[in-house]
Amino acid sequence: MSTTDNTRQNNTVKIGTFACVRCGLTVSAFAADGTRRNHCPSCLHSRHIVDHTDDSPGDCQARMTPIAIAVTRGGDWMVIHRCVRCDELTANPICADDNQLILMRMAVRPLAQPPFPLEVFGDL
Ligand SMILES: [Zn+2]
Ligand SMILES: [Zn+2]
Repeated sequence: MSTTDNTRQNNTVKIGTFACVRCGLTVSAFAADGTRRNHCPSCLHSRHIVDHTDDSPGDCQARMTPIAIAVTRGGDWMVIHRCVRCDELTANPICADDNQLILMRMAVRPLAQPPFPLEVFGDL
């Protein structure tokens, strides 16, 4: 009886820390204010863990790269992650101790590299 019970418990138990898949930093799974964190505060990389509410086949476990910032209706910032293996996109709320330099760099990247010449706005 105990074998299956232990396996189940190990899978469902909340793990207090995880190692960042990119920089190796030991990250607390919960931020200082108690919110769940799934990405590294230093490099903002994450790992693709598929929720069991999802129909996708099992955990992907691949690295997720932060690619963009999204702003919710309430003004909160979300980090958009893309899985390097299956290309799935996820949105996760930022934490207070996230690397602000990387956040800002992602936020201004589209403005710094517009796919069209900015001069057109001068002619409007
Ligand atoms: Zn990291
Ligand atoms: Zn994936």
